[in-house]
Amino acid sequence: MTNIDFEAERKRLVNYLIKTGVLKSENVIKAMLKVPREEFVPKHLKNQAYEDTPLPTSHGQTISAPHMVAMMCEFLELRVGDKVLEIGAGSGYHAAVIAEIVAPEGTKNPGHVYTIELIKELADFARKNLEKTSYKNRVTVIHGDGTLGLPEYAPFDRIIVTAAAPSIPKPLIEQLADGGILIIPVGEPHFSQVLKRVMKVKDTLKFDDLCDVVFVPLRGKYGWLG
Ligand code: SAH
Repeated sequence: MTNIDFEAERKRLVNYLIKTGVLKSENVIKAMLKVPREEFVPKHLKNQAYEDTPLPTSHGQTISAPHMVAMMCEFLELRVGDKVLEIGAGSGYHAAVIAEIVAPEGTKNPGHVYTIELIKELADFARKNLEKTSYKNRVTVIHGDGTLGLPEYAPFDRIIVTAAAPSIPKPLIEQLADGGILIIPVGEPHFSQVLKRVMKVKDTLKFDDLCDVVFVPLRGKYGWLG
């Protein structure tokens, strides 16, 4: 495990995601080349960090597959300076990739990522991973129910949900800024889920179905199991 060239592995994975048409935008490609996924997976799984597959974190939860992180970042159309809300911090990896795009080092007008995690141990895990990889000033991890959003920091330019909801939580639509984009998987726990996009323009909402996906269930007040 100790002699793996993680940087070379990362390049190989990013090239594969470009070749398969998943990665398209310069800013997303740059971010995925920079963020060390091996620092966000549990220690004993480091050797699998650059396989294009979800990996377990703890409590039956997962860190999404790299192609899903890439796809969702592409759909979000992220820009430097964006204020982003993520529901489902998990390992903190996806939040770090988003932070790398909206708040690259040295920019005069950095954005910020707020990420909410329901499971206390995972919120701590994400925080620790973001600290050791130097994202802690660009990402704020909050332990709580993300289906309620984060009214004190709203509105958000972009909102991303990384667990599948029974329907789109009302507070998230309310907390989306004018011109904002929300990406969320909606469907049954563990099957028959569709990734949906909501765009808000002057209080008008436009809904699109993007593709079929499989995510762990979103819990909390507007999730499964209340
Ligand atoms: N984005 C993560 C992967 C998240 S998996 C990463 O990059 O690693 C989905 C996560 O959503 C799980 O950790 C789960 O505990 C969390 N979750 C489920 N319901 C939630 C809720 N209502 N609020 C916040 N987090 C929630």
